[in-house]
Amino acid sequence: RQEQFRALRDVDSVTKDGQRISLMMNAGLMVDLPQLVESGADGIGLFRTELQFMIASTMPKLEEQEAFYRNVLRQTAGRPVTFRTLDIGGDKVVSYFRAQEEENPALGWRAIRLALDRPGLLRTQLRALLRASAGSELKMMLPMVTEVAEIHAVRDLMQKEVQHLSKFGHSLPRKLQFGAMLEVPALLWQLDELMTEVDFVSVGSNDLFQFSMAVDRGNARVSDRFDILGKPFLRILRDIVRAAERNRTPLTLCGEMAGKPLSAMALIALGFRSVSMTPTAIGPVKAMLLGLDAGQLAAELNAMLDDTRSNASVREMLVSFAAGH
Ligand code: PEP
Ligand code: MG
Repeated sequence: RQEQFRALRDVDSVTKDGQRISLMMNAGLMVDLPQLVESGADGIGLFRTELQFMIASTMPKLEEQEAFYRNVLRQTAGRPVTFRTLDIGGDKVVSYFRAQEEENPALGWRAIRLALDRPGLLRTQLRALLRASAGSELKMMLPMVTEVAEIHAVRDLMQKEVQHLSKFGHSLPRKLQFGAMLEVPALLWQLDELMTEVDFVSVGSNDLFQFSMAVDRGNARVSDRFDILGKPFLRILRDIVRAAERNRTPLTLCGEMAGKPLSAMALIALGFRSVSMTPTAIGPVKAMLLGLDAGQLAAELNAMLDDTRSNASVREMLVSFAAGH
């Protein structure tokens, strides 16, 4: 099968009914990069910058961060890379950084919260990203956003860094794309504000599922208790797609579900046209979508999601749809 997937590497990812789907890969370290060519991904949809911090024994300095990002951009040779700013805390432990034990680290001082409280840390990262992308495009996104105001705060810091760099004669990125991850349910009631504020939105379905279902993603006792392909979560995703269409905001999804052919099939039927996944999943997902009639599945899926009386399993419908095609 591996050979079969490799043969698909240069095949366009277009569904049977003509929908072009952008297949991106997730990465975080230099060792991941050869997979870009190997998998035939269109780019890196999620670059987890905290990994450089997690494997270091001391805080990477500005120059080290810049060199790292520069290297990533060199090796990806023009394919788009979306850098996610530091997502430290929760399940992502940086030994030399965490100060205090927290009772609920997933809900605690993490990601953008920590970054806004330690603006020096965030500004250093922003500066490194800006410098590494001089003359090219910088695409970056913020993790764990809860309120749109947090995005304003980061934009202000970004503006300061841009001014600082141009004052000292550095060249700047040719283009800046600023996005947010959708991982916290509170953002679901700020979708229009959010989408007018950013250049793109990326759904972090691992965390969005964890928080919307109130199940710890790392606790095996409960993590599989509810189905990510159940009605509640699929309705949430459908609302997000509708908001993105209404606001003409580019939308992608970068959680684990994007890399499972069955759930990727559901995502495409819901209207996602870009997904980012672990590189080894690109082949299997592409094989699935080449044979998919997205329109037909969308009709069946939407009918089920609109039906408030039936308890029929969406997953079973998806499995039988896949088997029948
Ligand atoms: C997510 O939450 O879905 C996500 C992509 O980010 P991470 O898995 O790094 O938390
Ligand atoms: Mg996350």
